Amino acid sequence: MSIAENIQKIKNNLPETVTLVAVSKTYPNEAILEAYQAGQRIFGENKVQELVTKYESLPKDIEWHMIGHLQTNKVKYIAPFVHLIHGVDSFNLLEEINKRAKNCHRIQKVLLQIYIAKEETKFGFSKEEVIDLLNSEKIKQLTNIEVVGLMGMATNTANEQQIRNEFKSLKTLFSMLNIHHLSLTTLSIGMSSDYKIAIEEGSTMIRVGSLIFGERNYP
Ligand SMILES: *Cc1c(COP(=O)(O)O)cnc(C)c1O
Repeated sequence: MSIAENIQKIKNNLPETVTLVAVSKTYPNEAILEAYQAGQRIFGENKVQELVTKYESLPKDIEWHMIGHLQTNKVKYIAPFVHLIHGVDSFNLLEEINKRAKNCHRIQKVLLQIYIAKEETKFGFSKEEVIDLLNSEKIKQLTNIEVVGLMGMATNTANEQQIRNEFKSLKTLFSMLNIHHLSLTTLSIGMSSDYKIAIEEGSTMIRVGSLIFGERNYP
């Protein structure tokens, strides 16, 4: 199937409340343009250099999302244009994003990444840390940051129940934070292998790569 057909197939079963981020990391501009011509405008990348290069050479009405681990010293390169940063996992990083956004006269939308998987390799805040952070005075000082939601990655496992439980726990935290005082709109969960489960568990934003563009040679 073509890229356009793959997108259509995913969109056919997507509730209106769920936004599709097409994860284009490692794929060339031609593949992105094919998706663009099929109407897709939101793309996700996980490496700063690749994101900047693609931003510079592709249509300017594309909404670029940074979905990968972001190093503090690289924030400045994407601060002028990035629409949403998914993987924010430290206060340090938030401070740097705030500073760079201020320089660009922008309010930067971010998602806080929460650690939900039973794996050592995934980044993120614990639930307790994020509750403390969102209740803290220090986050209120970051006037050029808008925390619009949470992001998480489930364990890479064939055990669907485990994936479901991990998504459920994040949705519970998301709802709980909203009951208390916040107005978080975005719950970024679900990739090619688990996006259907994520939608059942309350995802509002899925990040799908290989199901649209084909298998990558490296992750
Ligand atoms: C690569 C990546 C995805 C997409 O993965 P696929 O399995 O290709 O859908 C989603 N989220 C993050 C954070 C990624 O790095």
